[in-house]
Amino acid sequence: MRYYSTQGRAPIATLEKAVVKGLAEDRGLYMPESITPLPKEFFEQMPEMSFQQIACQVAQAFFGEDVEAEALKQIVCDTLSFESPIVKVKDNIYSLELFHGPTLAFKDVGARFMARLLQYFIKASDKPKGATVNVLVATSGDTGSAVANGFLGVEGIHVYVLYPKGKVSKIQESQFATLGQNITAIEVDGVFDDCQALVKNAFMDEELCRHMQLTSANSINVARFLPQAFYYFNAIAQAMKLQKESGEQREFVVCVPSGNFGNICAALFGHQMGLPVKRFIAANNANDIFYQYLLTGQYSPRASQQTLANAMDVGDPSNFARIIDLYSKHQQLSPVETHQRITSLISGATYSDDEIRDIMRRCYAETGYVLDPHGACGYQAIEDQLKPGEIGIFCETAHPAKFKETVDSVLGIDLPIPERLANFMKGTKQSIPMSKDFADFKQFLLNQ
Ligand SMILES: *Cc1c(COP(=O)(O)O)cnc(C)c1O
Repeated sequence: MRYYSTQGRAPIATLEKAVVKGLAEDRGLYMPESITPLPKEFFEQMPEMSFQQIACQVAQAFFGEDVEAEALKQIVCDTLSFESPIVKVKDNIYSLELFHGPTLAFKDVGARFMARLLQYFIKASDKPKGATVNVLVATSGDTGSAVANGFLGVEGIHVYVLYPKGKVSKIQESQFATLGQNITAIEVDGVFDDCQALVKNAFMDEELCRHMQLTSANSINVARFLPQAFYYFNAIAQAMKLQKESGEQREFVVCVPSGNFGNICAALFGHQMGLPVKRFIAANNANDIFYQYLLTGQYSPRASQQTLANAMDVGDPSNFARIIDLYSKHQQLSPVETHQRITSLISGATYSDDEIRDIMRRCYAETGYVLDPHGACGYQAIEDQLKPGEIGIFCETAHPAKFKETVDSVLGIDLPIPERLANFMKGTKQSIPMSKDFADFKQFLLNQ
């Protein structure tokens, strides 16, 4: 498969180059030149297939031209060692629980898949032994832990996790700042957007790129965001199975609480491949840049604002460019036509911190289901927008125990911490403090 840049001013790349470089030379995001629709028979068989079997077919469609079939199957099986169930919360509303991976984050799938794919390319290349690929990742919480754990101990790769000081939860911090080995945590005196800017600037710095090989594991990387499509095929397979059993015929609506829009973007790629979803909802917290775009047709990025759902505190969602490209490129649509096309498929929602607290309380009182602050936005968007004849599936993107302080104080409970999470908290923090000034970060990397 050939990959082009959303900015249109960079050379066409192979999958290997797109994965190793992350961002194109012109700062655009890589997009596959074509999206292979999956055959009707696949969708008919899907309800009877396992998560791994479904994911293998989807991965084959994305990456089959560039990765040897058996190796790809191995990568998928190694990535998906857990389930991703849909759980009934109330009539016609299901929670797609994306938090059953190793760090209890949905990003575990993309991170592990990317680590394995990168390793596959490093092994296959004639790079001198001992040369390291350096992965830079900016995180507002969950990305850092998923990437750090996905890459932990993978030979030939060093990971630098940049996170905003004081703006991620203790549990999240413990998941990437205590690991050691090939993982270095960098505590930036700034907000998430500062971390993201440091990473982006590093990729564009010629001196740094001569000094060391740099790549990104944010959802700008095709190997990070695309595998998230596995979840949506698997979720719809489960929903189809339930429909078969009940004899009901409702249409599926999928709601994704969104920050950088990588997750929903993967779902939209799935839709382009024929996944039977009628429409999507992108739920925002107070950082409602996408919601405003849907209303006005204008994209106006702004500084992010801290909220209870901190993994969605993004002021300039990097995958916005991919969504625009997905719906305009091949039809050469104007901005107005593109906006119309997008609003006919995707609606938005936005919730303040006060609303998030209310939603969590109401859902718990009515159904007994414990929402985390991110899932709360998704749940409420489905509640508010579901129409007759539809089934709503919202993503519960974080295990509520990852936001224990918030969940406990809002619901007045003492949520147990799963053992997997508690184990991380036993380690010692070993972060390196950093200013948000690029010159400081550059000097640090040059000294490595
Ligand atoms: C990363 C994350 C999101 C946002 O996902 P994007 O792909 O950036 O839109 C939402 N919720 C949680 C818990 C996350 O970790």
